[in-house]
Amino acid sequence: MKASTATTVITNGQLIDGTGRPPIAKGALLIENERIRFAGPEAALPALPNDVCRIDAKGGTIMPGLVEAHFHPTYFNVAALEDLDIKYPVEYVTLLASANAKLALDCGYTSARSGGSLFNIDVWLKKAIENDLVPGPRLAASGREICGAGGLMDWNPDFRKIGMEGLVLIINGAEEARAAVRKLVKDGVEWVKTYPTGDAAVPDVNDHHTLCMTFEEMHAVVATAHNHGMKVTGHCRATAGIKNALRAGYDTLEHGTFMDDEALDILLERNVPVVPALYFELASVERGPEFGMSQRVIDGHKETLEGGAESARRILKAGGRLGMGGDYGFAWNPHGDYAKELTFFVKYVGFTPLEVLTCATKTGAEILGRGHEIGTLEPGKLADVLIVDGDVLSDISLLEDRRRFIAVMQGGVVKAGRVMAPSA
Ligand SMILES: [Zn+2]
Repeated sequence: MKASTATTVITNGQLIDGTGRPPIAKGALLIENERIRFAGPEAALPALPNDVCRIDAKGGTIMPGLVEAHFHPTYFNVAALEDLDIKYPVEYVTLLASANAKLALDCGYTSARSGGSLFNIDVWLKKAIENDLVPGPRLAASGREICGAGGLMDWNPDFRKIGMEGLVLIINGAEEARAAVRKLVKDGVEWVKTYPTGDAAVPDVNDHHTLCMTFEEMHAVVATAHNHGMKVTGHCRATAGIKNALRAGYDTLEHGTFMDDEALDILLERNVPVVPALYFELASVERGPEFGMSQRVIDGHKETLEGGAESARRILKAGGRLGMGGDYGFAWNPHGDYAKELTFFVKYVGFTPLEVLTCATKTGAEILGRGHEIGTLEPGKLADVLIVDGDVLSDISLLEDRRRFIAVMQGGVVKAGRVMAPSA
């Protein structure tokens, strides 16, 4: 990704650095080339060169770029699960994924971790973004997901004679689990996304309390992935699936919905981050009827919503780590709505705006594996910055409105917002 060669100073706004520290009321950020040189009170700014590029935050907020920790670039706002796999050819889905990546960056998300994608699209999308061919968040790629045969993602009935090879590698046993991970090694993914449990979306045979992989399969995935320097995550709702994942050595959990005391203890001991992805559940409950969801499915999403919100509260209170993100790309929670997750965690779950922003920046960067480079506004880090016209701590929903963005910056270069490219 092309770095800025300019010196830029941002002033006249409260500075939220993403570490969880309280904001600095009259803050300033100094960027040299692509990195942050100073983040602190405006009164303490170092001497500035004459040709410094100035950005006025207009009394609003200067904060780190947001991190989407569970991003599905190839989901194109589908209303039916099977559309994810067979509705369009891979060529068209690739273009849709590119459009979704641009939209995410426009929405202030300067980084994202893929939660799985059709074929290997996210791996190549990441390369295209890094080579400045298309705009988008800095990506961590997952490629195809892994699920046990007959599990949540193995939905095409045999009589259709359609495999699932574009979206998911279906496995039976530890040997096939290893083989699936080895395929992904060659694809170039960084994260291996698995399906240890089912979901409320499939109430008959794979509901949210059903296991979709065995411990042996999960352990084989982790051992093979870790051997090749890849990390492992999984769709974990059922309590037993959460414990299996933690004991098998998973690096993060998606959802972590039904945590009991024992699961929470192991989670904290291993310091494993969780991405609850909960606004999806609320959107399913509220908008499910208009998309033909059955009452049973909606009831399951309600149970998931309440269980997931309670688990998220317990994890944060106990000092655990949560990432913000979540399955945007369905008809009832389309791409572009990403920041609704943040508002939801303040209004529905009861977190403070500052807690939510720390999850959405610092912890998100840690989940990506790039906590040393991005996620906070501290000297030496890459200048991925979001400047918002308004006080996001008194109204976090301002982040849902792109018209409020003065600038979205990656590596000191303005990529979106009202001020375009003064430092390019
Ligand atoms: Zn997902």
